[in-house]
Amino acid sequence: MLDNHLHRFCGGRYQRAVETVTIRVSGMSAEVQRELYRCMKCNDEQRTVEQRELAERAAVDRIRAEHALLLPKEIRQLRESIGVTPAQLGELLYGTPRGIVEGWERGRYLQNRETDALLRSLRDRETLERRAAKAGVTLPTPADAAPAAVPDSTAP
Ligand SMILES: [Zn+2]
Repeated sequence: MLDNHLHRFCGGRYQRAVETVTIRVSGMSAEVQRELYRCMKCNDEQRTVEQRELAERAAVDRIRAEHALLLPKEIRQLRESIGVTPAQLGELLYGTPRGIVEGWERGRYLQNRETDALLRSLRDRETLERRAAKAGVTLPTPADAAPAAVPDSTAP
C-alpha cells in the first residue's frame, strides 16, 4: 500500500520492513513479526491498520495455542449447547458485556485464562445450573432431557 510511496517530508521512499514485537493480549503476551513501512532516507516508520491487525491476530493465535484456550468456534458451540444468547452467556460469566462474548466467538477478542476455565466449567450441568441461578439466567430445558420418572402407584 505504502510500498515505494514518496515521503514528501524528506523526498525518500518507503519500503516494506519487518520488526519483532511483543504484543500483550488479556494479560498474556506473544512475540510476533510485524510488517511496517520505513523511509529509506530518514527512517520514518509507518504502520497501517492492516499491518497492526495482522500482527494482533498472529499474537492472539499464538497465545491461544500456547495456553490451550478455547477456539472461537468452541465457545460458540459451548454457548449453543447450553442454549443461551451471547448476552446470557455474559451474565453467566459475572456480567461480561455481550459485545465481548461476540468478540470471542469471532476471534476478535481473547478470553483470559480465568475466563477460559469458567467457560469450560459451564459444560458441567450442575455448575451451569448453579451459575444460572445466581446470575438470574433462565436456562432452556435440555432437549434430550429424560422425562422425570413418575412412581407408578398402580404397580402391584
Ligand atoms: Zn523520509
